[in-house]
Amino acid sequence: MIDPKCLNGQMEYFFSAEDYLLPCCWCGEFVAKPEFNDPKIQSLMMNKLSEVASVEQIVESKEWREFYKNLFIDPPQLCRDFCAKGYTNKIREKY
Ligand code: SF4
Repeated sequence: MIDPKCLNGQMEYFFSAEDYLLPCCWCGEFVAKPEFNDPKIQSLMMNKLSEVASVEQIVESKEWREFYKNLFIDPPQLCRDFCAKGYTNKIREKY
């Protein structure tokens, strides 16, 4: 189904200008466009980074654990698009 790049070391966390931490920069696209957001990705934005004592408090939260667990069962459309098995983003080859 999908090969999550956020779990195999190919993607780093994304820290948005709005103070949210997300699993990757593709998810970050929805911070600026909440009307298009997927509820599963929206659930990751329960706290801003400045509202917690550590990054672990966010990435080890119930919401993030649930998100990662469900990636292999029922992933958001964004993840199906960008992390489909066999899909490689070629933008880096240009630079
Ligand atoms: S699109 Fe989804 S599966 Fe892919 S790196 Fe981002 S959060 Fe992970």
